[in-house]
Amino acid sequence: MSVQDEIQNSFRDSISTIDEQGKRVFIHPKKPTGRFFNRRLIVGWVLLAILFGIPFIKYNGESYFMVDVIHRKFIFFGVHFWPQDSYLFAITMISLLVGIVLFTAVYGRLWCGWACPQTIFMEILFRPVEYLIDGDSKDQRRLRNASWTFEKIWKRIVKNFIFVVISIVITNALLAWVIGIDEVLKIVAEPISEHLTGFIVMLIFSGFLFFIYSWFREQVCTILCPYGRIQGVLLDVNSIIVSYDYKRGEPRGKAKDGQPAGDCIDCGQCVQVCPTGIDIRNGTQLECINCTACIDACDSVMDKVKKPRGLIRFASEKEISEGAKFKITPRMIGYSTLLLALMVFLTVLIFGRNDLETTILRTPGMLYQQQDDDRISNLYNIKIINKTIDTVNVELKLLSHKGEINLVKGVVKIKPSTIYEDVFFLKIDPKELKAKRSEIEIGIYMGNKLIETKELTFIGDKDK
Ligand code: SF4
Ligand code: SF4
Repeated sequence: MSVQDEIQNSFRDSISTIDEQGKRVFIHPKKPTGRFFNRRLIVGWVLLAILFGIPFIKYNGESYFMVDVIHRKFIFFGVHFWPQDSYLFAITMISLLVGIVLFTAVYGRLWCGWACPQTIFMEILFRPVEYLIDGDSKDQRRLRNASWTFEKIWKRIVKNFIFVVISIVITNALLAWVIGIDEVLKIVAEPISEHLTGFIVMLIFSGFLFFIYSWFREQVCTILCPYGRIQGVLLDVNSIIVSYDYKRGEPRGKAKDGQPAGDCIDCGQCVQVCPTGIDIRNGTQLECINCTACIDACDSVMDKVKKPRGLIRFASEKEISEGAKFKITPRMIGYSTLLLALMVFLTVLIFGRNDLETTILRTPGMLYQQQDDDRISNLYNIKIINKTIDTVNVELKLLSHKGEINLVKGVVKIKPSTIYEDVFFLKIDPKELKAKRSEIEIGIYMGNKLIETKELTFIGDKDK
């Protein structure tokens, strides 16, 4: 690598949020405006509405969504999932992992700038408060460097108070996903002393959020986030990312040495709006979260200098280097189809799952009993999980032989999301049996609908 190349690549030796002494450099990005920002606002508010609104949606008196890891109760779209459904969880995780790889390979880090909670909370909730109280980037910088004047003190108090309130609201919203909105409202209404442990946990979590959004900020993306770290191996020259068109933009600035200048006027607007403090003109960087703020900034500059928009745009490295226009490639179609197929597969798995899950085992230590009517009986333990949110009536029918099933408790009526346990006698006429050990089949019915069938072993002496 030449000295010139080394100088040009020196930005890769450090990150913009840490200075040469290792101290934190605070980024104060300029307030973004533009068409991409407006779209991001819409997406962000829709996602926030989902986060805050979904816990209020009920179906049959139950939460429509719930991720209660404490009590191992999971509800998605009103469908209950049990620890027994953990295979679905495993498949979901694997699909998610494959999905992330495919999605990033095609669409780059779109998730980070448009849907990641870190970005949404920061850019839609916290940052606007900061702009409102502290002003735009210049005022923010002035205030940071100012001594503790009355203005700085009241602004810091008000801003941090609102940050604390937002952090508490987010914590409660997340808690509502875990324990349900009714429980959260109940806890809020009751004295703290009755929920001291929970209160302390909430306080710690709210404090953590406050720390992240008031101080740590973009470092989550540039230092902590594993997704950001593995991008280097997920992206390739065909991935669509926020790119600077160096072919069109360089040489930047004014024309010199008789060489005509490129379209980049070197105004630095793209750097000033960047929430991670990088210069996209240096090429793809780990810190870029694809937020598109630099696209908007540069487009407005291009409008002013009467040049076409898109000097910074969504494009692959190949498109930029070959000067080609954006086009949908077979690879994009292939990966997107695979992603769609994965999602369909998961949806079919999740919604095609049985409403009941039945386990039947022979009662240990019992062989068979001879009944007064000469029939032979075996004793079984049965456990049925009702995965629905309705009370269900279940019936057991012997499918493979003529016989009778006598449940000790009688009628099988299972409340929503509960487990029914019982024992039952299965009585069969020995004439029906062909061997000492017979395979029999039992059907589990809800009304007239056969939900599942179970294969059991029946022990009985056919010669009796
Ligand atoms: S905003 Fe556009 S014109 Fe200005 S420095 Fe950035 S790339 Fe160049
Ligand atoms: S370089 Fe552009 S897209 Fe990337 S983080 Fe900065 S402003 Fe956002």
